[in-house]
Amino acid sequence: MTEWPLPGSCPACGSGDVHVLAFGMPLPEEVAAAPPWVWFIGCVVDGPEDRHCLRCRNRWVASPA
Ligand SMILES: [Zn+2]
Repeated sequence: MTEWPLPGSCPACGSGDVHVLAFGMPLPEEVAAAPPWVWFIGCVVDGPEDRHCLRCRNRWVASPA
Protein backbone atom coordinates (compact mmCIF):
# COMPACT_ATOMS: atom_id res chain seq x y z
CA MET A 1 0.00 0.00 0.00
CA THR A 2 1.20 3.48 -0.81
CA GLU A 3 2.54 5.47 2.12
CA TRP A 4 1.21 9.01 1.88
CA PRO A 5 3.15 11.89 3.42
CA LEU A 6 1.34 14.05 5.90
CA PRO A 7 0.23 17.32 4.32
CA GLY A 8 1.67 19.46 7.11
CA SER A 9 0.74 23.12 7.41
CA CYS A 10 0.84 26.06 5.03
CA PRO A 11 4.04 28.13 5.20
CA ALA A 12 2.14 31.21 4.05
CA CYS A 13 -0.87 31.30 6.41
CA GLY A 14 -0.19 28.47 8.86
CA SER A 15 -3.42 26.65 8.00
CA GLY A 16 -3.60 22.93 8.46
CA ASP A 17 -6.14 22.65 5.65
CA VAL A 18 -3.54 21.40 3.23
CA HIS A 19 -3.85 18.82 0.49
CA VAL A 20 -1.14 16.61 -0.91
CA LEU A 21 -0.99 16.75 -4.70
CA ALA A 22 -0.31 13.35 -6.23
CA PHE A 23 1.06 13.22 -9.76
CA GLY A 24 0.63 10.55 -12.39
CA MET A 25 -2.16 8.13 -13.05
CA PRO A 26 -3.06 6.19 -9.90
CA LEU A 27 -4.55 2.75 -9.79
CA PRO A 28 -8.21 2.64 -8.75
CA GLU A 29 -7.25 0.90 -5.51
CA GLU A 30 -4.74 3.64 -4.77
CA VAL A 31 -7.48 6.25 -5.14
CA ALA A 32 -9.78 4.23 -2.89
CA ALA A 33 -7.11 3.78 -0.22
CA ALA A 34 -5.79 7.33 -0.26
CA PRO A 35 -6.59 9.71 2.59
CA PRO A 36 -9.20 12.39 1.82
CA TRP A 37 -6.53 15.08 1.69
CA VAL A 38 -4.78 13.55 -1.29
CA TRP A 39 -5.61 15.09 -4.66
CA PHE A 40 -4.81 13.20 -7.82
CA ILE A 41 -3.99 15.85 -10.38
CA GLY A 42 -2.89 13.67 -13.28
CA CYS A 43 0.17 13.89 -15.44
CA VAL A 44 -0.19 17.42 -16.81
CA VAL A 45 0.82 19.83 -14.08
CA ASP A 46 1.96 23.44 -14.01
CA GLY A 47 4.89 22.99 -11.67
CA PRO A 48 6.65 20.85 -9.11
CA GLU A 49 4.45 21.94 -6.20
CA ASP A 50 3.02 19.03 -4.25
CA ARG A 51 1.11 20.84 -1.51
CA HIS A 52 -1.97 23.02 -1.85
CA CYS A 53 -3.48 25.20 0.88
CA LEU A 54 -7.26 25.23 0.90
CA ARG A 55 -7.37 28.48 2.86
CA CYS A 56 -5.10 30.79 0.87
CA ARG A 57 -4.57 28.63 -2.24
CA ASN A 58 -0.83 28.77 -1.80
CA ARG A 59 1.09 25.99 -3.53
CA TRP A 60 4.57 24.90 -2.59
CA VAL A 61 7.05 22.05 -2.69
CA ALA A 62 7.03 20.20 0.61
CA SER A 63 10.33 18.41 0.15
CA PRO A 64 12.89 17.98 -2.61
CA ALA A 65 12.58 14.71 -4.45
ZN1 LIG B 1 -2.27 28.95 3.30
